[in-house]
Parts: sequence; structure tokens; C-alpha cells
Amino acid sequence: MTAITHDHLLPIPGSNGGFPGKRLLVVCDFDGTVCSVDMGNVFLERFAEDWEEIDRSYSAGEIGSRAAYRRIAPFFRANRPQMLDFVLRHERLDPFFPDFLSFCRGRKIDLKIVSDGLDFYIEAILRKYGLDVEFYSNRLIFREDDRIDFAFPLANEKCGRCGTCKRSLIDRFRPDYDRIIYVGDGYSDVCPARAVDQVFAKPILYEKCEKNGTPCLRYEDFGDIRRCLENISSSNASASVTKP
Ligand SMILES: [Mg+2]
Repeated sequence: MTAITHDHLLPIPGSNGGFPGKRLLVVCDFDGTVCSVDMGNVFLERFAEDWEEIDRSYSAGEIGSRAAYRRIAPFFRANRPQMLDFVLRHERLDPFFPDFLSFCRGRKIDLKIVSDGLDFYIEAILRKYGLDVEFYSNRLIFREDDRIDFAFPLANEKCGRCGTCKRSLIDRFRPDYDRIIYVGDGYSDVCPARAVDQVFAKPILYEKCEKNGTPCLRYEDFGDIRRCLENISSSNASASVTKP
């Protein structure tokens, strides 16, 4: 049994399983979060040469994702059918995500995906499961001769580190919501996690949040997050959820 306590969970007043008067948004990372595997890594390992060294530099914080994508692009070889087939065979959607999405919609909680990954596989995976979710990400552009390019329509030119600036997106969403919950797992989630009201984190993000003092909760899948939201919506702010 893995017990997930939420000592840091901010109370969200509510009754009858809802959140009346509160505009609540759940923002989810995609790779390693909505999709249990990091599709971006799997994808680049398969189709891009010399990815490992670039990934090492990225993980060590020596370069940002935008620079990493730009270095990778010339070594990338694949066409659309090959990539689609690969994505659909290797994706691993969090099995609790569709149910979590229905739960949110039933409670009038908005959910958006922000990703520093690529639109091509996010769109393919959501379509496979019939999930209609607003998402924000980098773009994969197909060229001739199995070559590709990356585009970064959501980059922050002042910073320039990430392909998609999740922090800017949080700032854009903020005026429409009273409370924002963030769900993520990795390096690109550290910055947006500092700008939200509640963070659910897997190991890399959790460690970074611990170091920089951002309150957060460990989770394993979207079933855990649903149980937390159910608990606080029934005004049981001190409860814990358990996972078999
Ligand atoms: Mg991730």
C-alpha cells in the first residue's frame, strides 16, 4: 500500500462534491504525466541520431529544451506514417486519465494540457482515446526527404530556455481562475509549479520542488489526484488517500 497524505493541500471549500463559486483549473504536463511514458524521449531515441548526448546536456541543465530541439532537428529522419505507427504502438496513456477528465467535467473543473513535447504525438494519442482536451505544445513540421523541423509558437523570447514556456501559459490562464492545480513530473514543470496554488508531482519535479520550497504532493497516477480532489470537495481537508 502506498499512502499519499496531503498535509500541504490547500483547502478548496465546497459541498455536494462540487466547487461552487470557485473557478478551478487543472493544468497537466503530457510526457510522463498524462502519458505514463515520456513519449518525447522514446520518440527522439528512435528517430534522432546522437540524442543521448543532447539529452544529457538538457538533463544537466546546460542547455534548455529549445536549444536541444534545434540541435536534434538536422539528425532527425522519419516520415509521418512511420512516426504515427510508432507513437500508437508505444504510447502508454495513464489508465486513470480518461476517468479523471470525466470527473473534472462533471464538477465544472477545467483541464488543459501544457507540454514542452510535440503536437504530433499528443494529438495522435488523444485522438486514439477519443479525448477532446485543449493542449499547448511545440510543433513538429514535416519536410521532404524524411526531414523535419520544430517550431516554438509558445516560446518566451525574454527567457528562451524552453520550447514552450509553461510559466507564460499559467500567467495567461490565471485571470480566469481562482485556483490552479498543476500536475507534472519533470524539468519543464519546475518553473510553472512555482506560479500555481497546488502541485502534484512525480519524482524529478518533487525533488526540485522540495529543494526550492514549492509545496507539492507526490502522486502515482490520476486516480490519486481524483481521490484528493474528492476528499477536499467533501471538506475533508485532513484526510489521506491510499492506493492499493
Ligand atoms: Mg513530463
